Amino acid sequence: MEEFSDKTVPPCPFQKRYPSLLALDDGYYMTLAYNLAIDAWNKGEVPIGAVVEFEGEVVARAHNCVESTGDPTAHAEILALTSAARAIGDWRLSGATLYVTKEPCPMCSGAMVMSRISRVVYAVRDPKMGCLGGATDLNALPRSNHRVIVDAGVMEQECLELIQAFFSVRRQGGAAE
Ligand code: ZN
Repeated sequence: MEEFSDKTVPPCPFQKRYPSLLALDDGYYMTLAYNLAIDAWNKGEVPIGAVVEFEGEVVARAHNCVESTGDPTAHAEILALTSAARAIGDWRLSGATLYVTKEPCPMCSGAMVMSRISRVVYAVRDPKMGCLGGATDLNALPRSNHRVIVDAGVMEQECLELIQAFFSVRRQGGAAE
């Protein structure tokens, strides 16, 4: 008989999507982030994915890696920001846009302000921990001289279903739905 740890989850039941290259719009980049979230699920991680676009190119892709690294800071957005800075050759990410499947937490929202990234697009709003408008708005620190443009709700339904399904399955101790 197989034994399941409480972190064991069955393979992700959602399929990756293949967006049209004809329109490199927010939906396109968010679809890439969505696909990374599916990769995260299949590695037993909370399914959150992020990509960074700069000058029309994807310069960073990451998904949540907290479980595999044992590192509480290994959120998709932090990994994507670090990777984007390396790719661009500058820690200042002015001109870049980060796409992430869930509203950034306090740590990641802070990192985005510090990186001076131009724009953040997220899918699922998080009224509990989201810090770009959901629970609070770090972007509105009264004396901060950097403002990130924020757009919420792109592919919200798809990304929400993915995250909810993951937690539902994990709560059941790994039993498939
Ligand atoms: Zn975070």
